[in-house]
Amino acid sequence: MLINGFQKLTILDYPGKVACIVFTPGCNFRCPFCHNASLVTHIDKETFLQVDEVLDYLKKRQGLLDGVVITGGEPLLQDGIEDFIAEIKSLGYCVKLDTNGSFPEKLISIVGKGLVDYVAMDIKNSKEKYGITAGLEKLDVAKIEESVEFLKSGTCPYEFRTTVVRELHTPQDIESMAMWLKGSKQCFLQSFVDSGDLICSGYSGYNKSEMQNLLNIAKNHFESTELRGI
Ligand code: SF4
Repeated sequence: MLINGFQKLTILDYPGKVACIVFTPGCNFRCPFCHNASLVTHIDKETFLQVDEVLDYLKKRQGLLDGVVITGGEPLLQDGIEDFIAEIKSLGYCVKLDTNGSFPEKLISIVGKGLVDYVAMDIKNSKEKYGITAGLEKLDVAKIEESVEFLKSGTCPYEFRTTVVRELHTPQDIESMAMWLKGSKQCFLQSFVDSGDLICSGYSGYNKSEMQNLLNIAKNHFESTELRGI
């Protein structure tokens, strides 16, 4: 289990909870607009934290923090992820898992064991443009579909979320994506913002009124839709 970042406090990243964030290195996707490129492409072992350091911090914050966000990179790439989350749960914390949805077997196993309280899954784009948006043109979307169907079954609270990039998402793509996910609970759209730490350059976001128009296209297909970060 590798950890290469730890944020001690957040009130923004876990809905309704005061939490901390654990970052894991590496990702199997190469989304060109990835805002955490240094976590994905330049794994620096010097920055790794010991699992015990994080668990010790959590022991000291019992009763003060509600939850832990596990994010990446792609956390489900980590071999020891299930045991790590089990340790966090044994300390009484709620756990939110961020994932790109490409490891449905691991997702189903972790949720099935009651180790995760909330899943935020990235939906990169319509099925037709999934590969190009994830930076893997030959990506097999079947794994993503499996994770989508599992979360839609309602075993665990979840959200789908999409970072919308002007150069990658047209209104037709948003419509196609929303029709694919039809009947899902929550969908958040967030406009791309250049973090300065991207895999590729030349990308831009939509403005607020354009995002509102895209949300209007999506909203009939979900129980709840919202813009985030605008
Ligand atoms: S945006 Fe997420 S899924 Fe895409 S490369 Fe970055 S960490 Fe991986």
